[in-house]
Amino acid sequence: MSQLFTSPDVPQVLTTTLSIPYTLTPGGAAGQFLAGLAERRILGSRCEPCARTVVPAQDVCGRCGEQTPDLVELPHGGTVTSWTAHQGRVVAKIRLDGADADLLHVVAAEPGAVEVGDRVAADWAAEPTGWITDLAAFTPGRARSGPAEATPVARAETSVEMVPYRLDLTYHHAYGPYYGRMFDELGSFSRLMGSRCSSCHRVLLPARAICDVCFARTDQFDEVSDTGVLQAFSVIHMEFVGQTRKPPYVYAEIVLDGSSTRLIHTVAGDFDLADAASTLSIGMKVKAVWKPESERVGTLEDIAYFEPVIP
Ligand SMILES: [Zn+2]
Ligand SMILES: [Zn+2]
Repeated sequence: MSQLFTSPDVPQVLTTTLSIPYTLTPGGAAGQFLAGLAERRILGSRCEPCARTVVPAQDVCGRCGEQTPDLVELPHGGTVTSWTAHQGRVVAKIRLDGADADLLHVVAAEPGAVEVGDRVAADWAAEPTGWITDLAAFTPGRARSGPAEATPVARAETSVEMVPYRLDLTYHHAYGPYYGRMFDELGSFSRLMGSRCSSCHRVLLPARAICDVCFARTDQFDEVSDTGVLQAFSVIHMEFVGQTRKPPYVYAEIVLDGSSTRLIHTVAGDFDLADAASTLSIGMKVKAVWKPESERVGTLEDIAYFEPVIP
């Protein structure tokens, strides 16, 4: 087996972040609770049969299952009933005065300085954004504001109905020796390297350790041409989250000359992508169009796209 170009002591790692946008719908009571925070009011809901007030306001009583249409405005002070430290911040359950259940929130204090039973009061963000952080934190020793006791209020006209939200997941993906060599070759020499099966001698691209047909180990790297044959394609017209290209574009399965497997890449060139379905055909020869050398970073994206070879 050939040696890797990079030192095996320095693992090649791809760090990438999946960014997923969501639109959260808080719901009736929670939407009113969030809208209330922007006005520096803390709204809970009251279940009369259970004689319980909970905060944040909820549409249905968690104890008896009845609807709880009655909102109450709560004082801005309470007592820490339990707490934990998370990433250096204190997260606590706080029993607001007049409430019968705890509110989970941040306490603006060092972890060593908080005790169960401490009195805390609300601190507000200077600029409301329609999110729980409009109530910035609870601070020990701060003077309590808001109403003197839990006070019934009418349902407000204003409600936060949608909250844009983005979930970012960062991954560190270790290439390992096979992908490592392949990307190394791409980055250093703009060369496509597959791995050859020791038993059936098929060349696999992307390179990998085990043949997917006979399950034997691959035992050498072989260079694969940047020309090949179009085996299948789809014209993408639909837009969706996470797309790296603007539709229309063509995703294709291409068997490169010297390879036994299909590589997924895009096909473009001197034709109208909207007419791709009639321009392209299965069995057509294609060749790689590489990005300018200054833009190559050692990934399959160094190939901008494959273009049809017109004989
Ligand atoms: Zn109830
Ligand atoms: Zn094999």
